[in-house]
Amino acid sequence: MTTELICVGTELLLGDILNTNAQFLSKELAKLGLEMHYQTVVGDNPGRIVECIRLSLSRSDMVILCGGLGPTKDDMTKERIAEFLGRKLVRDQAAYDNLVERIHAFGVPDISESQKKQADVPEGAVVLQNHHGTAPGCIIEKEGKTVILLPGPPKELEPMFRESCEPYLRKLCGGTIVSVNIKLKSAKEAPPEIVGEAPAADLLGSLLDYTDPTVATYAKDDGCLIRVTSKGESREEALGKIRPVVEKIRQIFPDYIKSTYES
Ligand code: AMP
Ligand code: MG
Repeated sequence: MTTELICVGTELLLGDILNTNAQFLSKELAKLGLEMHYQTVVGDNPGRIVECIRLSLSRSDMVILCGGLGPTKDDMTKERIAEFLGRKLVRDQAAYDNLVERIHAFGVPDISESQKKQADVPEGAVVLQNHHGTAPGCIIEKEGKTVILLPGPPKELEPMFRESCEPYLRKLCGGTIVSVNIKLKSAKEAPPEIVGEAPAADLLGSLLDYTDPTVATYAKDDGCLIRVTSKGESREEALGKIRPVVEKIRQIFPDYIKSTYES
């Protein structure tokens, strides 16, 4: 199942905040064995948001959007998705009750229309209740595609993902992506003509063309990292494909491997 991520928020484009949701969701989706092919950051602009939605749904089975579910005018992810999918927005009672309770707990007696609108979700959506904020998330299935909306604040998105989104995705996909990371000694600890990224890549040769598992090199300050990655129904199945390749790499660099670890 192919998936992509759209993070919505002009503040991300301006560099005001770090896109930690992208990192969090990328790791979590990989653990679930979901293949992420694209990630996009788009500002709070209706035309460009719709354009991103259109493109992502044309090429991926699933799109996850985060941000833009709040009460203010620049929060419009839900409205644009509902419009694009041709769904009405309907008020979710449980989300509304949660919202009222939270706002009252803040000592605010009157709830504005824009705040109430946070409890509206596209008709037919699975609602992901927000136990750490006021805007619910949701999952919408349409014509074989899945759209997931999650709130922007990480302290809301992360628990919501773990509590209700992850179990849903687990049922949907199955499988997991596993990597074995092989850390070579640094150029200070071993001959640079062997452990530098370029010579290491040359020595790996055709291993870098493998597709399952894949083999990739990353230059790091403390030495080159070789990552061997595969997907399987279970961790053990993925590791079964990875281990023979790790063995080949050990033979190529018998004296220059500093450590190996799984992720
Ligand atoms: P929003 O739902 O778009 O109004 O976002 C609310 C807040 O969540 C923003 O002001 C950010 O502080 C935070 N936020 C939104 N998107 C992200 C993201 N991709 N990564 C980290 N924090 C985010
Ligand atoms: Mg925003």
